[in-house]
Amino acid sequence: MPHPFIAVFDLEGVFTPEIWIAVAGATGIAGLRRTTRDEPDYDKLMRQRLQILEEHGLTLKDIQEVIAGLEPLPGAREFLGWMRSQAPVIILSDTFYEFAAPLMAKLAHPTLFCNSLEVDARGMIMDYHLRIRDGKREAVQALKQIHFRVIAAGDSYNDTTMLAAADHGILFRPPANVADEFPQFPVVTEYEALHGLIESLLAQSR
Ligand SMILES: [Mg+2]
Repeated sequence: MPHPFIAVFDLEGVFTPEIWIAVAGATGIAGLRRTTRDEPDYDKLMRQRLQILEEHGLTLKDIQEVIAGLEPLPGAREFLGWMRSQAPVIILSDTFYEFAAPLMAKLAHPTLFCNSLEVDARGMIMDYHLRIRDGKREAVQALKQIHFRVIAAGDSYNDTTMLAAADHGILFRPPANVADEFPQFPVVTEYEALHGLIESLLAQSR
């Protein structure tokens, strides 16, 4: 009897807009436009972001106000609804619980594994805490260890170790540099195609 499937997905760029890009747009701070699509070193990227927030006096509440105005990408909610009817789903994200809550509500509360922020008395974000290093890959490996077959989809550098660890890794709307560097993963750009590809994987082993 083959192991049952579980599906794991990145959040930003797959189901929601990039949160930091939205903050950059709302505040006009160009330095916040850099994401994991541009900078493979996540800690370096986060240190730069926290320094910029400090320089501009931007609090967690300021950022939460921007996020409250964001909507999931068109079609995301419907795709997730279908996916959750087919297999258990976990969102594996490098974002923070303090940021993600309103977007999770708009996606009908899928399970989310992500990270936490440390905020001081002024409401300034002082630090961030990864639950575990390379958490996306660790989660996939743990799921395989308890005998799930893992389908994973993401869009960026920070997803590639997760995609490699999964039984089936898929790039969804990757930037050209990521698609070029990781030709081993199939690329899809629409939910319909993602639905079709996953449906064929599920059907192969039933
Ligand atoms: Mg992403």
